[in-house]
Amino acid sequence: MCVVNTCTVTAEADREALALLRRVTRRNPAARLVVTGCLAERAPDLVRAAAPHATVVGHAGKASIPALFGCAPAPAEAALPASNGRSRAFLKIQDGCNMACAYCTIPSIRPTLVSLPVAELLEKTRAYAAAGVPEIVLCGVRLGRYLRRDAGTRTDLAGLIERLLEVPGNFRVRLSSLEVTDATDRLFTLMRGAGGRLCPHLHLPLQSGCDATLKRMKRWYTADFYRRRADAYRAAAPDGSLFADVIAGFPEETDAEHEESLGFARDLQFDGLHVFRYSPRPGTAAARWKAPSERVVSARAQAWRTLDFERRGAHARRAVGRPRVLAPALDGREGVSEDFLTVRVDGVLGRGLTPVRVTGLAGGVPTGTARTAV
Ligand code: SF4
Repeated sequence: MCVVNTCTVTAEADREALALLRRVTRRNPAARLVVTGCLAERAPDLVRAAAPHATVVGHAGKASIPALFGCAPAPAEAALPASNGRSRAFLKIQDGCNMACAYCTIPSIRPTLVSLPVAELLEKTRAYAAAGVPEIVLCGVRLGRYLRRDAGTRTDLAGLIERLLEVPGNFRVRLSSLEVTDATDRLFTLMRGAGGRLCPHLHLPLQSGCDATLKRMKRWYTADFYRRRADAYRAAAPDGSLFADVIAGFPEETDAEHEESLGFARDLQFDGLHVFRYSPRPGTAAARWKAPSERVVSARAQAWRTLDFERRGAHARRAVGRPRVLAPALDGREGVSEDFLTVRVDGVLGRGLTPVRVTGLAGGVPTGTARTAV
């Protein structure tokens, strides 16, 4: 049995998913193959062409997947990560986006904003805490649009985090990607007052640091607004880290606009960048516009990657000689710090959150010594 959950956010994601399906079909011709996720929703024909015997299941049918295998859905606690205290958990709190960024296909696939009930999220958090999960990462397409009204009580993202942090246990909470307009002072205050239980780490998609490009992208903020929110965050969390997504080679982006964007990001001193090469997504506005040549897109992506490399190096060097608290990963041979550094340790980290002192760098990767017995 094989279930493949696909992504379609870029052309590269499509290619990888289709290659995986062809590989599974070739190597395991007798496997019962079910394909779901955003590519299955957007382009079921492409999926069937790559894997003719697969059962293709769109978002609405996901709950039926266990039944396709003749199984009943597992109870919630069975979905917990192996409770060895060395696995971070990803807690989906929200789904869908109703914005209209010119390059993005997500609103055509998941157009409805859905926020999961507070009670359900609290129950999962209690179960994670009881299982010894050290870190819970809150996920959603538009995390900052989390909003529930249950029994007359309104709960937004900050309100939800407050409730989750009331759950007893030695765990912390991390935000995944958040739009800059959702990065509120209230969240920053919460981060400052949480004593490390809400990680001082933000990933705020920038996409471009040039207003003209942002406007064509149909992003709804300016570079200056972004800068002011980043400054407010850093004032509230001076030791926190800031990461961003950027798109290299957006249609009609001139050399000067690319340089302006790169210069903006350089000034902002991000701790790391996720660089996406622009790829046209069917049905989006930008797919009709003239994209720079492959050569230009590659050169711009390379310039962004060089900046990313520099900034990640600076982030790692800043940690040397300082304490960090690690959530174990990779069977405890390394861990993820509160400010999202991967730190290698001598030996093996024990269960749960572990304080370490970062002692040096090995091949650019921070190395550390645990301060408590593990
Ligand atoms: S905010 Fe824009 S980029 Fe993000 S999911 Fe929505 S449409 Fe896509």
